Amino acid sequence: MSLPQSIRRLAAAYADQFIGIRRHLHANPELSYQEFETSAFVQEKLREMGIPFTIMAGTGVVGIIEGQYPASRVVALRADMDALPILEANDIPYASTRPGIMHACGHDVHTTCLLGAAKILQELKEQWSGTVKLIFQPGEEKNPGGASLMIKDGVLDNPRPAAIFGLHVHPQMSVGLVSFREGKVMASADEIYITVRSKGGHAAAPQYTADTILVASHIIVALQQVISRNREPQMASVLSITSFQGGHTTNVIPSEVKLMGTFRAMDEKWRFRAHELIRKIVEGTAHSMGAEVDCLIDIGYPSVYNNEALHITAKALAQTYMGENKVGETEIRMGAEDFGYYTQQVPGCFFRLGVMNAEKGIVSGVHTPTFNIDESAIETGMGMMAWLGASANI
Ligand SMILES: [Zn+2]
Ligand SMILES: [Zn+2]
Repeated sequence: MSLPQSIRRLAAAYADQFIGIRRHLHANPELSYQEFETSAFVQEKLREMGIPFTIMAGTGVVGIIEGQYPASRVVALRADMDALPILEANDIPYASTRPGIMHACGHDVHTTCLLGAAKILQELKEQWSGTVKLIFQPGEEKNPGGASLMIKDGVLDNPRPAAIFGLHVHPQMSVGLVSFREGKVMASADEIYITVRSKGGHAAAPQYTADTILVASHIIVALQQVISRNREPQMASVLSITSFQGGHTTNVIPSEVKLMGTFRAMDEKWRFRAHELIRKIVEGTAHSMGAEVDCLIDIGYPSVYNNEALHITAKALAQTYMGENKVGETEIRMGAEDFGYYTQQVPGCFFRLGVMNAEKGIVSGVHTPTFNIDESAIETGMGMMAWLGASANI
């Protein structure tokens, strides 16, 4: 039996068992950096499989499986474990038992697929060469990003992987499909916090104070030119001001107005040039109108970049494993993923796993209270991760 055949056979044989694991994780979600039970559960499963592991970044778990000639190649496979502060609205037997916390981004599925891949790789270790590093990370949904903490703790050292793969559920793509994209796939995400200040005063005497409401309004309008006039038109980028807080009555000019927003980019050079422009526009506008201002840009995740050569390898391997017509092209997304931190360090490939089933009504997007998956995606996900871990080379 060929290796992909063996993997397909085991993925099918273990699918029900791992659907059970996913349901356990789904029912017991934990917020970012608090994945204590999830981490203990992952450790217990690795122990049962006889896979050695270490702990990193608090709740992160890193397992190692050695095939034949362990030093010949090292590949990392990554899953995230955290859930979101969302109240689940699904009426399912394995719904979240923790009100206000929900696996609404499918990280329960990612963790399950990696555990499933671990089981398959361990069982078939006579049939593949090299070392596979299993990375179960905390805190993908929250700055500074579990990936950055894992890297600081040395997840990419001893041994250093030549390639890293991660998958993400895709609720707009049918179950049974996967999709890939070369180069830029997801955006960087930085948070903007602006505070406009003046001494404030009587609304009937605006001549005695800078009007923070008017200044903040001008700032919002002026910031529109960052994308429309300064960005290279062919380069995707978004700047959205999403919160305007200030004032509480009709006859007072408030002494403080707060704005918040998000800035997304696909190019790291443009990203940091845009930060300078944003600061300049904010400060220039406020000062020209006599107000004081603070502009804080909280640096979030970098963009996700899929290495060209690895993308070609991975896509071809996916076609071998799944059949050519099951492998598609992913669109660029302006969402962010802390997987971007790994792709800055080693060649990476982030791909998508179809989980939609329109006939069964499984169509809700990630981060919604009704998000769910067609669970047959788990067999695909665990098989694909095992296959990439066992065979991808760069
Ligand atoms: Zn998410
Ligand atoms: Zn996610």
